Amino acid sequence: MGIEAVPWAVRRAAGTEPDREPEVLVVGAGPVGLFTALLLHRRGVQVQIVDQARRPAARSYALLLHPGSLRLLDAAGLAGEALERGHAVDQVAFYEGPDRCAAVDLAALGPPFACAAVLPQQALEGLLESALEREGGRVLWRHRVSDLHLGGGAAVAVVERLALDSEAVEESWMLRPGVVIGTDGHQSAVRRALRASYVEIRPPERFAVFELAADGPASREVRVVLDEEGAAVLVALGGNRFRWGFQIDESQWEELLEPRFKRRVFDTVGDDPFPYLARQRLEELIARRAPWFSRTLGEIVWSMAVRFEHRLTGRFGHENAWLAGDAAHLACPIGGHSMNVGLREAADLAHQLGRILRERHPLDSLAGYEKARRSEWRRLLGARGHPEANAAASGWVRRHAARIPACLPASGDDLDALLRQIGLALPAA
Ligand SMILES: Cc1cc2nc3c(=O)[nH]c(=O)nc-3n(C[C@H](O)[C@H](O)[C@H](O)COP(=O)(O)OP(=O)(O)OC[C@H]3O[C@@H](n4cnc5c(N)ncnc54)[C@H](O)[C@@H]3O)c2cc1C
Repeated sequence: MGIEAVPWAVRRAAGTEPDREPEVLVVGAGPVGLFTALLLHRRGVQVQIVDQARRPAARSYALLLHPGSLRLLDAAGLAGEALERGHAVDQVAFYEGPDRCAAVDLAALGPPFACAAVLPQQALEGLLESALEREGGRVLWRHRVSDLHLGGGAAVAVVERLALDSEAVEESWMLRPGVVIGTDGHQSAVRRALRASYVEIRPPERFAVFELAADGPASREVRVVLDEEGAAVLVALGGNRFRWGFQIDESQWEELLEPRFKRRVFDTVGDDPFPYLARQRLEELIARRAPWFSRTLGEIVWSMAVRFEHRLTGRFGHENAWLAGDAAHLACPIGGHSMNVGLREAADLAHQLGRILRERHPLDSLAGYEKARRSEWRRLLGARGHPEANAAASGWVRRHAARIPACLPASGDDLDALLRQIGLALPAA
């Protein structure tokens, strides 16, 4: 639909504010949107970033920064701060029952970042927002893109300023950015405007997630359990804080929740999170699935039951509207792929778009972004087939080969290098 075709009702409700027409409008200020806006700003692009919520996020959510993400943050001058605020881990070990069955060493990736960093998502977002502000940028929090029309090489967005304490719209106006980037999460309005599908690649996985205090030193190892009930992961956040996430099947879902909270279950990534899972359930899950975990449990800081979907957009973008992050894909949380690959997409998009805008190339040269991203995600989500095992792979690794890539904190060449250590190779992109 071209600009001429924007419905009259939209024009009338919104009015136009010609002084508010950025080169690029970034919709959504989660980690991926913030990183995109920061990198575009640094390239001298005039960017406006809006978010309907008040962030940074209140909880840790995605918490593992891949070595590749540390390299990207380093190029932006932020890796030192991320490592200072976070907790470095350099091993991923796999368990089943009482046994340690395999281990992957991140040190094999070599300097400068032979480790991953455990950094709660809200800390990463705070760090990115501060960097953006130092560059003279600013997030417009509580600003929602309520309508977006694309077509004929143009984009028209209706932006609403929301009240701080309610959903009341205080003001709205029309914006005509040169390019729109949708980093607006799994319910992306930009993806809808692109009329892109969001195809379910595999059935959803349900997790019971607990953030808690426990005694003993923080370990530099992420521990993954792969057993007949699915996957589970233990991550040390530093100090005496830990995150346990247990995959659970549908039959356990109901019994896991405290009865008084059942009707308010937080069911899908992105909705308002809601506690609580009973402490007794955590103790049972640990006793059954991680008998090696012998730390004394302290306070449960928060807990929730959450369903993670596996989805991939049918189209990463077109002409002047492009997607990155959860707006384009959702994945199992253990390896942290959705956010970390999202950060790679942010860097790629900002790099290519910065050059295109500076050198006045046509926007369709971004088609390469679409191709590279799709092929990466088809590989990560197993759509190109499961990893093949060579002679170096143990029987246990062979049995669990299909699940292992999603549990490692890496993508691209780094993921290939980590898989090689245990005798696995993913099909080529
Ligand atoms: C409970 C929970 C636990 C999680 N645990 C993990 C984990 O252990 N490991 C892991 O890797 N990942 C985890 N995730 C997922 C992780 O949080 C996401 O992958 C990450 O936030 C994606 O970042 P993003 O920037 O792409 O999108 P988001 O963080 O979803 O940000 C999108 C933003 O867009 C804004 N927005 C949406 N629509 C509009 C609009 N129309 N106008 C303006 N703004 C809009 C939203 O307010 C939001 O702030 C978890 C998520 C949840 C909810």
